[in-house]
Amino acid sequence: MIAETIRQIERSLNGKAKLIAVTKTKPVELLREAYNAGCRRFGENKVQEMADKQPQLPDDVQWHLIGHLQSNKVKYIAPFVALIHSVDSLKLLQEINKQAAKHNRVIDCLLQIYIADEETKFGLSPTEAELLLNAPELNDMHNIRLIGLMGLATNTDDEAQVRQEFRGLKQLFDKLAQLRHPQIQFQELSMGMSGDYHIALEEGSTMVRVGSAIFGSRS
Ligand SMILES: *Cc1c(COP(=O)(O)O)cnc(C)c1O
Repeated sequence: MIAETIRQIERSLNGKAKLIAVTKTKPVELLREAYNAGCRRFGENKVQEMADKQPQLPDDVQWHLIGHLQSNKVKYIAPFVALIHSVDSLKLLQEINKQAAKHNRVIDCLLQIYIADEETKFGLSPTEAELLLNAPELNDMHNIRLIGLMGLATNTDDEAQVRQEFRGLKQLFDKLAQLRHPQIQFQELSMGMSGDYHIALEEGSTMVRVGSAIFGSRS
């Protein structure tokens, strides 16, 4: 069941985007099932839950933190996290750099950009993102790499609006990808979830974060 859905999604991605299987709230048995079906990238939105699940799955799983991250919790995921999708401040980035250094790692990060028409969502404005990427503090951060952007579109049936939001994010991505800096190497655009990944894919997504379409709705 899960395996067949994963195969279908992988087929529709057609090698253009990577699938992040969003496993928040789901038990480890379901993650194992997805692993056995070939999934190697899992997305969690809570630090504690991710840190609990990580030792229970094989070492070749890449753990993606997709939810809001507080600076004081970075230390729990720094030893193993593959990509943090939700960086939204210089202070947080500095803490990630510090914790990554303790483990002799370079942690890849995306800046989360606010693109939705909903006040509940986190993220930087395009101007704030540009300021962060030009911050002199970045010069000393040798244990992080900024490899792209993440955004969540408005939760609406209006496909035109969703498409427009993704298109705006792609334009910002293309602009910021021009920046030349050792810590900035744009290559990933994380956009699209169960309800809108088809649109995101058409608009240039390289990573889709899909949960309920694979694992069923969360109670
Ligand atoms: C939960 C979540 C998803 C997955 O949502 P689905 O609609 O279940 O696919 C994607 N991205 C983020 C940031 C999430 O928190």
